[in-house]
Amino acid sequence: MSPANVLLPATFGQAALRGIRCTCPRCGEARLFRKWLKPLETCPRCGVDWSPQRADDFPAYIAILVTGHLLAPLVIALATDFELGPAAMFSIIVPLAVAMMLGMLQPAKGAVIAAQWWFGLHGFRRERLPEAPGSNPDRP
Ligand SMILES: [Zn+2]
Repeated sequence: MSPANVLLPATFGQAALRGIRCTCPRCGEARLFRKWLKPLETCPRCGVDWSPQRADDFPAYIAILVTGHLLAPLVIALATDFELGPAAMFSIIVPLAVAMMLGMLQPAKGAVIAAQWWFGLHGFRRERLPEAPGSNPDRP
């Protein structure tokens, strides 16, 4: 597929969903990562250069935030309804939290890279679908 034949995402949500699926946010067809958290240098389908991405620790913050909010009601329920002791609580919550965070890191990094690409951060070129004539009421 040549870069001209790429079906760009129409919205940020569509680009983020492509990133969450660990596919290229620009074309949505090629994989985004060459290793678990290492993105490809360039997309093999559309040719976008992924080297400007700077996700840093943000995917980990997202994974911690989501895991904490999902597990908090479970911790409260286990402590109040089942009256589990600290050892039983630890043996349930810690493996579950680790599994959830590890499972969430790659999709979170895909979404962060998609956001950086969509908003043209760190040297990415902002690309949008061409507007259909007459679709914008503000312009004649
Ligand atoms: Zn691509």
